[in-house]
Amino acid sequence: MNFLPTIHGKTKVGFFFIAILLLLLTSNAVAENTVDQLFQRVQILLNMPQPRLKIHIQIYQDQEELSEVYEMITGKPTKMPAFYLKKTNTIYLQKEKLSTGILAHEMAHAIISHYPGVYPDREITESLCQYIDKEISMRGF
Ligand SMILES: [Zn+2]
Repeated sequence: MNFLPTIHGKTKVGFFFIAILLLLLTSNAVAENTVDQLFQRVQILLNMPQPRLKIHIQIYQDQEELSEVYEMITGKPTKMPAFYLKKTNTIYLQKEKLSTGILAHEMAHAIISHYPGVYPDREITESLCQYIDKEISMRGF
C-alpha cells in the first residue's frame, strides 16, 4: 500500500497500479477488479474488441496540473477533469476527480479512436463515451 506517494507529478503508472489507486480513492466495487478488466469490459460494451491495444495512463495531482499538461500539448486551455489524446495515446486523469466511470469514459475514447474503419463524428463519439460512463457507473464491470 505504500506505492501511493509514487503516483505524483508526471509519473507514468501501469493499469495495475491505477486499480490499486482507485481502490484507495474510492469505496466502490473497483476493489476486486483490475483496470485491465475494465478495459476489456469497455471494449465488449462498444463491440470493438482490440486485444492488442495498449494505452498509457498518467495521473496528476489536481486540475491545475492537468490543465497545464493539456495546454502544453494542444496549445489550448481546458477545465476537463480527464481526457484522452490520440497524439500521445494517453489517458490523462487527476486525483481529485477520479472515478471508474470517468476512466471508462476515457478508455472508450481510446478504443473508438483506434478501431479500424470507424470514424464517428465528435458528438456521436461523446454520446457513446457517456453511455459507457453511465453503464459502468450504474452496473459496475
Ligand atoms: Zn468524452
